[in-house]
Amino acid sequence: MNSVEQDEIGSGATVVVGIAELVTCEEAFVGGRGGDSLGIVRDAAVVVEGGRIAWIGPASRAPAAENRIDLGGRAVVPGFVDSHSHLVFAGDRSAEFSARMTGIPYDGGGIATTMSATRAADDQTLRGLVASRISEMRRQGTTTVEIKGGYGLTVEDEARSLRVAREFTTETTYLGAHVVPPEARGERTAYIDLVTGPMLEACLPHAKWADVFCEPNSPHAFTDEESREILGACAAAGLALRVHGNQLGPGPGVRLAVELEAASVDHCTYLSDEDVDLLVQAADTTTATLLPGVEFSTRSPYPDARRLLDAGVSVALATDCNPGTCYSSSMPFMIALAVREMRMTPAEALWAATRGGAKALRRNDAGRLSVGGPADLAVIDGPSHEHLAYRPGVPVVRTLEL
Ligand SMILES: [Zn+2]
Repeated sequence: MNSVEQDEIGSGATVVVGIAELVTCEEAFVGGRGGDSLGIVRDAAVVVEGGRIAWIGPASRAPAAENRIDLGGRAVVPGFVDSHSHLVFAGDRSAEFSARMTGIPYDGGGIATTMSATRAADDQTLRGLVASRISEMRRQGTTTVEIKGGYGLTVEDEARSLRVAREFTTETTYLGAHVVPPEARGERTAYIDLVTGPMLEACLPHAKWADVFCEPNSPHAFTDEESREILGACAAAGLALRVHGNQLGPGPGVRLAVELEAASVDHCTYLSDEDVDLLVQAADTTTATLLPGVEFSTRSPYPDARRLLDAGVSVALATDCNPGTCYSSSMPFMIALAVREMRMTPAEALWAATRGGAKALRRNDAGRLSVGGPADLAVIDGPSHEHLAYRPGVPVVRTLEL
């Protein structure tokens, strides 16, 4: 148990009490407190000082602090880590969604519609749109978010997308290789030269990660060889890697991600036994990020989360919030889908939405509640974390603003 003496709690600190169940996602609590792998402390208190956690423990031993918040028997979990989102875009594709619901399949081509709207928007408009989406996420318990570019697809528009994204998060991802834009469809090689050359150079100051939509099953996305070339150039320039792979059918995405030691391979809907084996072997390095909101919104088969978890793959959950295939920023909804549709337990789903996402971003400070770490507290309007999946579609969780 981590603690500090009472006289070390400074002025301005807040003690949060009335926590029926505190989910820390800290291994330190496993076993020792009779909890489960979520590191649960019952009847807990947390002291927050200067945006960081100063003390965690049983309420009966909580130190006094200047401010006091009583949550009245609610559960507290770490803020969600949404490790995959595309928040920098203008316009919407509700008509495409409606058409898809009548049976028109998704092939990755609608991105061009968003691209046009995004290019046409000025910086202030884009900034406002991202801000409102981030605020929507926070209201639903998300405290860490990754944001990709990928709707500009010119040197200038990709650079400004990431510049805007960087105003909101350090987890920014260069995705010049989202699709080949319509104006370059006859000149794939020239577009890839742009992505690995001037566009990469312009985006580099604003990006931490690079990603590619590796999907030979879509004529708009990138093949194995093209993805390898793009990711190789990005890695050489100093970016860490992520991959969109195995979404629309079997493909090379997982193999590529594991080979290149990408932090995450995202979607993973169509996996061979060999892919699963590779992910098991690479579990310390590469996380399989599942995005069930996409399957929900495109009426597609869900990834087999049970198979991955039982095999020992590192699994994360994220929203993929984007205007085409999943316009939802709700991590609680993803947790509910994971439990109902992908046979994850409520505990596995919460872990995947917190520590799993942090691992997919190689962040050791996020997705957990620990002394010295950020006070990313999310409050559930119920006594246990199970209420996240048990009460789908209800605003059951919020970020605790201190
Ligand atoms: Zn995506």
